[in-house]
Amino acid sequence: MAYPGQPMGGQAAAPWQPNQGGEAGGYKWDDGPDTDPEDDDNRTEPIQGDPTNITGVEGYQPIQGYENVGFGTGSAAPPPPYQPPPDTEKPQEVYSSAASISEEEARDAMIRFVNQNCCYGSKPAKEMNIESIAPSSALHYELETFTESRSTSRAWVPYNGYDPVDGPMNGYPPPLWEIVCSPNMLFADEVREMEIPHTAFVLPCHGCNAMGFNRCYRCYGRGRVRCRTCGADGRVWRTNAEGHRYQDRCDYCMGTGRRRCDTCGGDGRITCNACRGYRMIKHYIKLTVRFTNHKSDYIMEKTDMPDHLIREVSGVTVFEQTLPYVWPISSYPVPEINNNSIRIVNEHRSAFASERQIQQRQQLRAVPVTECMYQWKDTRTRFWVYGNERDVHAPDYPQQCCCGCSIL
Ligand SMILES: [Zn+2]
Ligand SMILES: [Zn+2]
Ligand SMILES: [Zn+2]
Repeated sequence: MAYPGQPMGGQAAAPWQPNQGGEAGGYKWDDGPDTDPEDDDNRTEPIQGDPTNITGVEGYQPIQGYENVGFGTGSAAPPPPYQPPPDTEKPQEVYSSAASISEEEARDAMIRFVNQNCCYGSKPAKEMNIESIAPSSALHYELETFTESRSTSRAWVPYNGYDPVDGPMNGYPPPLWEIVCSPNMLFADEVREMEIPHTAFVLPCHGCNAMGFNRCYRCYGRGRVRCRTCGADGRVWRTNAEGHRYQDRCDYCMGTGRRRCDTCGGDGRITCNACRGYRMIKHYIKLTVRFTNHKSDYIMEKTDMPDHLIREVSGVTVFEQTLPYVWPISSYPVPEINNNSIRIVNEHRSAFASERQIQQRQQLRAVPVTECMYQWKDTRTRFWVYGNERDVHAPDYPQQCCCGCSIL
């Protein structure tokens, strides 16, 4: 007896193809309609893809360890219990700091900013009197926790009859979390799919009863459709040079009122889209691995500039650590940073219970922020220069509208 996991002997590997040059109605269907159908461009091919009842099919067998896996989006499986990392010595925390900028650099940044905004007038930037400069450092703490989650589902592909089938005869399928699947990159979201070893078996195609073809959806298997040009009449009305109307033979159907179905080439059958004509389907259990980079951050910014601007610019990396499980920052001279590091690290400890933690990375950056008070004509207000890029935030800049261009 043939083992269900093995390719079926005697089945031709070549897929079934309709005879595109065939005579109209080359294949007769018992359940076809009595008359040729109207032609309809909107009729679409049904997907022969519902194998949900294969559990009752002869040759189907549950896979050890994966008996309850169903079709569809897949069921998530939680990782094995968390193993605390072995006691390692806490790494030393060494910190760097950010640099401040001069009045001249602040003005240059402002002029550059104005030039980037075509309808800002440049006069205030050139003429403004910078009254005071207050340098400071914003601190940006970020924790990334890189995890993976795994889920399984039943999957199937057309089987060509000669590719190897890795079924249960090759051994027991490995437990879900022992399957090796590594991310291409750490700290980057990614989805990987793979066939779980030793779970494959071959069944006759569920979409076509292993025939390789199905009844044509366009002509309902008759190979012909009614001619739309003449309304299946075979004749059309024409008007001659003198304006007289007369009946003539329809050129599209050669006067027959019927046209060969373009979809099946007149054969009445089309290749099964589930098995692509191969008549057989390989079933297997699919593993879906989702790598996710979870990010949380905390920004400490003391000026009135919106804090979120800090995320977009670079600064000085004060501290960085990458470990399977990081230690929260605890000895930075600013207690607010230590407290928020502890808070965020603790939050991540319990937030992703159904995922396996792979790696964590924490970073503390110091981003320079310079607040400049300036005066131009009657206006006395502030702007901010921030980041190594020296971006400018100037919500009160005097010449912002297009009328500013005319003052140039
Ligand atoms: Zn016609
Ligand atoms: Zn057809
Ligand atoms: Zn099929």
